[in-house]
This record gives sequence, C-alpha cells and structure tokens, in this order.
Amino acid sequence: MAVKIIESCVNCFACEPVCPSNAIYEAKPHFLVDSKKCTECEGDFPVFQCASICPIEGAILDSLGLAINPPGSLTGIPPEKMAEAMAELQSH
Ligand code: SF4
Ligand code: SF4
Repeated sequence: MAVKIIESCVNCFACEPVCPSNAIYEAKPHFLVDSKKCTECEGDFPVFQCASICPIEGAILDSLGLAINPPGSLTGIPPEKMAEAMAELQSH
C-alpha cells in the first residue's frame, strides 16, 4: 500500500519534510514516493500527510489510483464551474 505522486506535481517541496516514513524524494521530472517505504501514514497520522499539505489537486493518488485531493477539493470550485470559467476566459 502506497500513494503515488504524478506528473502534475509542481515540485514545491512541501510534502517531502512532512512524510513520517521518509518515503518522498526529489527526482526528475517531479517528486516521487518510494512505495516500499510509504506506510500511508498508518500508525503515525489519521490522514495522508503528503496529500494534506499538497497544494495541487490530483497530484497524489491513493493505492487505488484515485486522486486524494480530487478536482475542486482544494479550491472549492466544482470542476464543471471551473471548465465554464476557463472556456469563458479563452473566448476573450
Ligand atoms: S502517505 Fe504518508 S507515508 Fe506515504 S508518502 Fe505520503 S506522507 Fe509519506
Ligand atoms: S506537495 Fe504536491 S506539488 Fe508539492 S512536491 Fe509534493 S506532490 Fe509535488
């Protein structure tokens, strides 16, 4: 069981120091999680520390491959509203 950091990671360094298992490391092109070390914070914290500090929606996936912070979860903007706003911006 391990979480995964994907390509939308912006290399902000926020997650690396908060991991209780030292499972997160800097790599190219983005930070990665050592799946052998990640404990999913079990026994240390009730929530994934990396995902709780990550500012990018969708950058960290759970062991099922689902975004821990799905679109809209951090901004509070529903994905369909965001899509509408982006379309509106691009039409100008
Ligand atoms: S889920 Fe917990 S143990 Fe796994 S990488 Fe994130 S902070 Fe580290
Ligand atoms: S907190 Fe999120 S965006 Fe920042 S380095 Fe970690 S995974 Fe990447």
